[in-house]
Amino acid sequence: MKIDMHVHTEFSKDSTTSPEEIVKRVKKKGLDGIVVTDHDTMEGVREVQKIGSDIIVIPGMEVTTTEGELLGIFIKEEIESEGPEDVIEEIKEQNGLVVVPHPFDPLRSFSGWESLKDIDGIEVLNSRNLFRGMNRRAEKYAEEKDVIRTAGSDAHTAWEIGKAFVEAEADNVKEFRRRLEKGELEIHGVRSSPLSYILGNFKKITHLIGKVMG
Ligand SMILES: [Zn+2]
Repeated sequence: MKIDMHVHTEFSKDSTTSPEEIVKRVKKKGLDGIVVTDHDTMEGVREVQKIGSDIIVIPGMEVTTTEGELLGIFIKEEIESEGPEDVIEEIKEQNGLVVVPHPFDPLRSFSGWESLKDIDGIEVLNSRNLFRGMNRRAEKYAEEKDVIRTAGSDAHTAWEIGKAFVEAEADNVKEFRRRLEKGELEIHGVRSSPLSYILGNFKKITHLIGKVMG
């Protein structure tokens, strides 16, 4: 089973991909499914599930906490909390997994996430990471700390879908999750063009340049 574990729909403010486009692209790329991880909403999950009844749509959400972003995967309802500890607790109450997205990206990571308790996993491959080293560091960390490894394209456009995915031997979502938790999986993928990173972080980058230039 091949699952891209980080995909945004048009229900994220910074993405315009419609549920129809997503389902089409998932099939075209030969994936079995995706985790829909919109920013602070699960509306996209429900819409993709409606249209893509023949693909696997795992519910998730990229939660904006007061300190940075966290992924809740296999959750049932939207996460309402904002403080990182409360967010983690809420995800756990729903029997979801807490995953740190793009953990070693200096512009996008949750600073100080390493001291958070009860993290289940980290993204060892996020296609929008600008440098290969960011993914390499994540892979090394996951190995050392024995946390769950996930991978996703972080697609904000249809063409990015499938740039990274997890492959595990499973016939259903329950089995997929079991393999994931046991680390019985393969990580596949590549990084997207730097352009998607630059466009996605345009505001932060110009702010940074502004600061450097005084
Ligand atoms: Zn994302």
